[in-house]
Amino acid sequence: MYNNTVLDHFANPRNVGSIPDADGTGQSGNPVDGDKIRIYIKVYNETLSDVRFKTFGCAAAIAASSMLTVLATGKTLEEAMNITNDDVAESLGGLPPQKLVCSNIAADALHDAINDYLNKNTQDIVKNEKLPQNTPERLVDANQGLDDSKQIQRYLRHIIMPKISGAGQKKIIQTRVLLCAQSIDVCDVSLNYMAASGIGQIYCYLESKNRCESVLAHVRDLNPEVNIELVENVNLLRNQFSSIENTADFNILIGDLVFVTKISDLFIQPVSYEFSPTLIAVSYAWQGYVNLCNQTQSIKDFLTKISEKPVFIKNMPYYEDFTQLGMSMSNTFMGSLVAVELIKARLNIGNILNDTIYFNLLEMSFINNPSISDCKLENIQNFLNNCASSPSHLKEEITKARVLIVGAGGLGSPAAFTLAKAGVGAIGLIDFDTVDISNLNRQILHSTSGIGLKKVESAKQTLKTINKDVNIELYATSFSKENAIDIIENYDIIVDGLDNLPTRYLLNDACFFSKKPLIEAGVLAFYGQITTIVSGDGPCYRCIFPESIEPRNAPSCSETGILGPVAGLSGILQAVEVLKMIIGINSTLKGGLLMYDALETEFNLVEFQRNNSCNLCGEHPSILELGEYTFVCKDTKI
Ligand SMILES: [Zn+2]
Repeated sequence: MYNNTVLDHFANPRNVGSIPDADGTGQSGNPVDGDKIRIYIKVYNETLSDVRFKTFGCAAAIAASSMLTVLATGKTLEEAMNITNDDVAESLGGLPPQKLVCSNIAADALHDAINDYLNKNTQDIVKNEKLPQNTPERLVDANQGLDDSKQIQRYLRHIIMPKISGAGQKKIIQTRVLLCAQSIDVCDVSLNYMAASGIGQIYCYLESKNRCESVLAHVRDLNPEVNIELVENVNLLRNQFSSIENTADFNILIGDLVFVTKISDLFIQPVSYEFSPTLIAVSYAWQGYVNLCNQTQSIKDFLTKISEKPVFIKNMPYYEDFTQLGMSMSNTFMGSLVAVELIKARLNIGNILNDTIYFNLLEMSFINNPSISDCKLENIQNFLNNCASSPSHLKEEITKARVLIVGAGGLGSPAAFTLAKAGVGAIGLIDFDTVDISNLNRQILHSTSGIGLKKVESAKQTLKTINKDVNIELYATSFSKENAIDIIENYDIIVDGLDNLPTRYLLNDACFFSKKPLIEAGVLAFYGQITTIVSGDGPCYRCIFPESIEPRNAPSCSETGILGPVAGLSGILQAVEVLKMIIGINSTLKGGLLMYDALETEFNLVEFQRNNSCNLCGEHPSILELGEYTFVCKDTKI
């Protein structure tokens, strides 16, 4: 699997990642294919405390560089000088001879970096500098972590990203998190994505344990390497974390303001042990706030700030269903967001969320460091007045709805998960593929015991445990020109869960001809984009992206990697769009492309108009029926 998927030769140089203040850097390359590797090292007590890489070249060179960071981190300089190119090739599970030229440069680059460090004037080097705050010395341990090929396969889409690499994945595996939530319904998504990402130890405090066993069973099967321990009561919780050795690296508090305030009190009180960074996610109906607090004072400031804000949709019994659905959507969305932010904070990459982010899923607005006026939702009544159905019939509308999800992978999983939880009547799933271990860093409907099963079958089993009343309709086949229209006709709304350009155009065209709304999303590495396309009303996919990028130049996830919960966040927003359409809320992403940059925690909405010269929906269309969509790359599925 590994050789077939990763070591396929991709020629596009695009991988970057560096330590700006590295103690030593070394470069190596092969003149035949033009691959170049640059290794950056940081040295602490004559030990390599951090090793990163920047690679221009093929997937073999990228994979070799990534594995080298795993091999070298935590080694003494002498040990690291003894790492050979053969060791690197072996760590990749043995390379075919034709790939050796590409991987045979990684260890050379490392040796150059060490020589660079040793040759520097020692007077200029602060050798005893402190490790970064979030890197306790106990984590610099080369003997634990990515030492078996199953782990490499499981986290493949993470470790091929230079910002994570094998060394970063190892840190994720060695992370201990304390998660506190009101109930399993509030934190199921965060648990799934933390486990899928490889967070090694999760202590979980649940105020109510209803229904938690089936969710925990799935999460444990999703990643059996993760240890999830329920903390029985609040007093135990305090006792368990009263010594420094047992302190979690991060705390996560997720729920409504009352719950979060109550639990926060435990963390605010003076303690003898070290304070761990605490991610706080507070949900209101369809809205919420997330903030990473690095000290007790910042918890107090955050809670004071948001409790000054008006509390929305409070005490409106008439809209109980609407409020309940909105709370569920907020918690689901925050579940993926906190998993992203946790990993960023752990690896110290991107913009760490020390400023509050506010989101409003009804308006699809996301505001960093909001002021009070940003967060008002005074026109809630207008939203409800615009509903096609009265909110009292909301449940009925959702139960009647039929949604088709094309692809049961990285996007299809969270979209179907969210829709099943909301009680959508029927979910159709199309996917020809089978479950592979390398899917499990993000495809949360699948699990370890389902490896080898058809994805649609595996997805159905999980969805039935989420909501047994949902009809799951399976199509274990490729989505093609031949079956597209026939399948689409049976559904009200279509969700695109593919990362495959030709099929994406096929789906866009088929939905246009069938007059079905299409919720589009695409994800890659740390970035996502989502839009809603309504046939004949507003731009179609071809209006926004008129020219098909040559497939060989289009980056794909198997080549560039994907952070698991980034796919989750995008798929969940697709499901939110679906639900808003079902209950008749007009403020969708129609005419706008929402772009999510997970590294910066930024959401930007770019508006698009329908293009009059669009080949499909313009004034003089040249596409009058489904055409040929020839290039189908199975590896590019997310
Ligand atoms: Zn168009």
